[in-house]
Order: sequence, then C-alpha cells, then structure tokens
Amino acid sequence: MKSWRDNVRRVVPYVPGEQPQDQDMIKLNTNENPYPPSPKVKEAMKNLDEDTFRLYPDPTAHKLVKAIADYHGLKESQVFVGVGSDDVLAMAFLTFFNSKKPILFPDITYSFYDVWAELFRIPYERVMLDERLDIRWEDYCRENGGIIFPNPNAPTGAYLPLSAVRSILDHNRETVVIVDEAYVDFGAETALPLLAEYDNLLVVRTFSKSRSMAGMRIGYACGNEEMIRCLNDVKYSFNSYTMDMTVLEAGAASIGDEAYFRETVEKVIKTREWTQEQLRRLGFTLKDSRANFVFASHGQCPARELFERLRQNHIYVRYFDKPRIDNYLRITIGTPEEMKKLIDFLEHYLAKRKGER
Ligand code: PMP
Repeated sequence: MKSWRDNVRRVVPYVPGEQPQDQDMIKLNTNENPYPPSPKVKEAMKNLDEDTFRLYPDPTAHKLVKAIADYHGLKESQVFVGVGSDDVLAMAFLTFFNSKKPILFPDITYSFYDVWAELFRIPYERVMLDERLDIRWEDYCRENGGIIFPNPNAPTGAYLPLSAVRSILDHNRETVVIVDEAYVDFGAETALPLLAEYDNLLVVRTFSKSRSMAGMRIGYACGNEEMIRCLNDVKYSFNSYTMDMTVLEAGAASIGDEAYFRETVEKVIKTREWTQEQLRRLGFTLKDSRANFVFASHGQCPARELFERLRQNHIYVRYFDKPRIDNYLRITIGTPEEMKKLIDFLEHYLAKRKGER
C-alpha cells in the first residue's frame, strides 16, 4: 500500500552537544564563552521598547549589517547576516553548492557539513586530514563543486596559515570556497583581506564564541557584492525576517565594544595556554589549538572512559565516537577556576587509576 511515508525527505540530523540543566556543573562541551557578553549588550536590551514588537523587524537587518561592515572596513552590500553561522552556512550551501561535482571538506571537521549536503542533496567528498590531523591544502587542488573548511578546524583546533588558504583559492578560481571562521578570533589569521583578490571567497563568522552570544544566534558572511546578493535572494525565498529586533540591537552593541571583546578573547587564550600546559603534564597529547577549545588524547586512559567519569562528576566535555578521533576529548576553555577543577579531577583520577593497576 502506498503511504505518505514513501515521500518523506529522510535525514539524519546533526546532534548538538547537550545543554544539561545541572546547577553545579562545569560546562565545557559546546565551545561557549565562559564570560558574559559586553555590558553594552545588557544596556541595549534595557533600552528596548517592547511596543515596537508589534511591527516586523527590518528585513535587511540594516543596523547590524552596517555595524559589521564598518567594523571590517567592508561595504554593507558585502555582508549577509543570519540566525547563527549555522543558518548562514546552510544558506550558503543552498546558494553556492549547486553542481553535480562533489563539494570537498575535511573528513574530520564540523559535523554539520555532511548533514546539509545530505539535506540539500549535494554530492560531497571527505578529504582526509593528514596523519597529524592537519589540512593539507594540496589535497584541495582537484575538480570540485565547491570547498568548505573551518579555520581553525573543529574539533581539532588546528589552523591553516593564510598562505595555505591562498593556495587553495589560487587552485580553485571557478568554485566557491567558504572559510568558516567560527573560532578565528582566538588566534588564527582571517581570510578577510583576501576578499579583495578572490571573487569566489566567502568568509563566515559568528557571535557565538568570541562575542559570548551563542544564545542570541548571530552569524554573518562576508563576500563580494554579487555573492551576497545571491545569498539574500535565497534567504528571501525562504524567510524574510530571520533577525528579530532584539538581535539587531544586541549585535550592534557588541560590535561597538572593541575593548571588552579584546579583553575577553585574551582571557580565554591565556586560560587555553595554561590548560594545554597542564594537560601535557598529565600525559595528554594535544593539537596546538588556536580556538577556544583543546583536542586532547591520553596515552594510557581511553577518551570514552574519561568522558564518562567527567560526566558523572558534572564536568561536561565533548566526545566523538568517530573513526580516527574516538580517543580524543574536545574540551572548551572555561574560566581559570573551571579549568583548575578539571585539571585537579583528571590528575586525581589518573593517579588513582595508575595505582590500581
Ligand atoms: N562552524 C563551526 C566550525 C562550529 O563549530 C560551530 C558551532 N557549533 C558553528 C559553525 C555554528 O555556530 P553558530 O551557529 O552558533 O554560529
């Protein structure tokens, strides 16, 4: 018998890290920022006039687009905003990856890429990271329907120097290359200066990490005017009012507080360096991270065991049960106090475990 079930678009959804409601937990599993957003954001929220909520928001999100464009020294027509960079990336996949040739992305990377490719029926190939879990730019010099990679990569935290990003662009003038810079503010080099040279480059950013605003859902893309027009055409064919009134104010206020932004990022970087040092001392091997998380594997103790023990003790980190990375933990950088508690727990647990053997 025929059924509506025969015609359902079946997908295996992306699974985000859990958001436990535990009061006394240490949450190091979704790469959130441990510090609050700029006080200017709080002020902007206080000044909101709820009466205006009866109106639709500005569909062009002009206030936010202008703030971002001015900040990066770009034209407003070079900036596209969305509901977190997930929304921006989804729109970019739909807009630019429309070829029969496969798009390319790393085998170990942000696990939403293959989900969008499946959802939009875009052919794709995963390009193996090298044995040190680094992207090799040479592997992206072949026929493709588009390229996307995060820089720094997730979940490894490893970054690709700008010269390598440039090499990928030089060998791919005819397809769109998306650089997902979700974590770039924590110490990698941005590809934004290359926009002037390459008309097929799209740089995607988020307010979720370095601007402490994961809950507000703000992401954006920078590219040439034609690309941004193409993105907007698709977005307006999907949902005109993606950015609500509160978000436009909060986002613009955050961009307006450069000092706070720098200070927060510096604090996270400093804590990351301390954490890496401590983890190495405890016998972990690590990728040298340029993000707000570290990717660590212990020689003697399986990552899954550590993940479970940490969880039982209300310390949440991320574990991926996937080939090549199933012995790693991805640990978000929290406050110095949180990281100290993590290190103390690991030190104690590993010593006890060693003693029992
Ligand atoms: N890109 C990468 C590489 C990420 O790790 C994340 C965070 N999950 C995102 C994009 C999406 O972040 P958001 O939608 O919060 O901007």
